[in-house]
Amino acid sequence: MSVLRPSPIAPTVDFDRDGIQHGFLRLPYSRDDSAWGSVMIPICVIRNGKGPAALLTGGNHGDEYEGPLALYDLARTLDPRHVSGTVVIVPAMNYPAFRAGTRTSPIDKGNMNRSFPGRPDGTVTEKIADYFQRELLPRADIVFDFHSGGRTLDFVPFCAAHTVPDKALEQKAFDAVAAFSAPFSMRMIEIDAVGMYDTAAEEMGKVFVSTELGGGGTSRAQTVRIARRGILNVLRHAGIVEGAVETTPTQWLDMPSGDCFSFAEDDGMIETMVDLGESVEKGAVVARIHSVGRTGVAPQEIRAKMSGMLAARHFPGLVKAGDCAAVVAVRVD
Ligand code: CA
Repeated sequence: MSVLRPSPIAPTVDFDRDGIQHGFLRLPYSRDDSAWGSVMIPICVIRNGKGPAALLTGGNHGDEYEGPLALYDLARTLDPRHVSGTVVIVPAMNYPAFRAGTRTSPIDKGNMNRSFPGRPDGTVTEKIADYFQRELLPRADIVFDFHSGGRTLDFVPFCAAHTVPDKALEQKAFDAVAAFSAPFSMRMIEIDAVGMYDTAAEEMGKVFVSTELGGGGTSRAQTVRIARRGILNVLRHAGIVEGAVETTPTQWLDMPSGDCFSFAEDDGMIETMVDLGESVEKGAVVARIHSVGRTGVAPQEIRAKMSGMLAARHFPGLVKAGDCAAVVAVRVD
């Protein structure tokens, strides 16, 4: 295996300097409108002496807003005197996608969360992934990556971690989920974990915590409040920010198997038969897909493959074959 070349990304911040720095990860990107141009990815480093390090990201997908809203705010308001250790904040990880308001990058169509471990000589998205893989993740003890549903999904607000082979690491992640104190807390499984930032961090032995806080390509007052309070709670729980964790009751949820997911098998107009947070029985119709090409066609019924609670749903009114239509999760006491 050949040795990877150094990352082309140049940070304008010093990760080992105390105090607060607002700067950029500068990624050279030569193009028609800027021959020697760069992508300037905002980064904030808040450090106060030795101690644990947290790496906080939003905008991994560019059309999800609770994370960026919470993290630009945190970067503006967190006082280094209240910190022990280091907080690195990248509020818009896939910055080109975030600026375009799209899930993937308009430059290369790169989906950040399918691009790990990345490549230093790859596309813009792969270069960002590679920088996180080799430069930022190794410095972190706890990694927190905000997600929401984006334009095409909507979720009940939850904080989540995965089951991982290292049970001590898994417990640390679920303790951080509990500290975040969202209305729902999820043991999450993935449809396909290959190339995910989550997987990269977990394989490196990092405590990895994520969220799904809403969706529809926007944010809500409630979900932004959950994000802002939750991330401070996690930093307090980790001993990085002073102050007590403010918990509120949470409903634990489990995704026990791939039967959680229901996919559309036809194009058409989707009719939600159950709202987010409502109970569903196995076999119940959670959504119907109406054919729109002609009248007189019965709708396709999408049925729950397990009993539980509707945790996520397709958001836009039109749906295509293969879209995720609904996700059912199981309430855990
Ligand atoms: Ca996402």
